[in-house]
Amino acid sequence: MKLPILVRIDAGHGGRDGGASGDGVNEKDLNLTSAKALQYLLKLQNIGSSLSRETDTRPTYADRVATPNDEGLVVAIHHDTATADPGLWVFFNDVKVAKPFAKTLGDSLGEAVGASVKVLSHWERKWYDKKGAVIGQGLYINDTIKPAVLVELGPTRTYTRDEMVARVESLVAPIVAFLAV
Ligand SMILES: [Zn+2]
Repeated sequence: MKLPILVRIDAGHGGRDGGASGDGVNEKDLNLTSAKALQYLLKLQNIGSSLSRETDTRPTYADRVATPNDEGLVVAIHHDTATADPGLWVFFNDVKVAKPFAKTLGDSLGEAVGASVKVLSHWERKWYDKKGAVIGQGLYINDTIKPAVLVELGPTRTYTRDEMVARVESLVAPIVAFLAV
């Protein structure tokens, strides 16, 4: 059965952009593994999705949030720096329904991990220069007219299979509920 493609999943970083690293793990690889796991778990719920990348490549920001099949939702997967604790974040873009969706995602992820998740507008993500001055703010998830979230699933480190699956699986029920509305 061919499923309609409803979700765009972006595996953060890739190629020469490794993202965070720690414990011998590169964030870009952890993101890709998690993104593929999410795609598989969604498929089990009869929800088709597209991936912004399937290998160690580095899509443009436009490609990351592209919705070639008119996907109704964009979910970007990231991990925080290795020393982050608990390193759990959900950022939402400016599309109105993204905020309540991000809250349900944050609740579900927090419950799965047993820690609190910060749920914030993407504008809260600021960029600093070496002297600590703000040089920019906002995230690429706002470069789409579709509701979009960027999830940081925890610090960049080695996860057991069960830990990784639990984190990714916590995203599934909120996504199913969001798409059913
Ligand atoms: Zn990242």
